[in-house]
Amino acid sequence: MATIKCPNCGVYNTGRDYCEACNTVLSYKIRRELVFKKEEEARLKELATQVKKPSFFEKYSNHRFLIVRVFTKIIRSIWLGFMAIGMFIAWLISAVVA
Ligand SMILES: [Zn+2]
Repeated sequence: MATIKCPNCGVYNTGRDYCEACNTVLSYKIRRELVFKKEEEARLKELATQVKKPSFFEKYSNHRFLIVRVFTKIIRSIWLGFMAIGMFIAWLISAVVA
């Protein structure tokens, strides 16, 4: 049986997972599991906020003003064209090098 000093109140506990005085978790295993759980929750929360946040294009393509929707469409097509040109240039460079 291991004697663990409670990090919270300083009481020595023998063979216990929780402090008998203040109920603080003493077991390293349980503590690690709690930390893991907390990290998992934080990760899930972050994921949820990412899902909730619509992308720039999704947000404005449903805008109630037509001008904003048209503008978003123009920007999107320019961006897609820009990407296509960029990919073409990248392909050209790799083709020239090879
Ligand atoms: Zn304690």
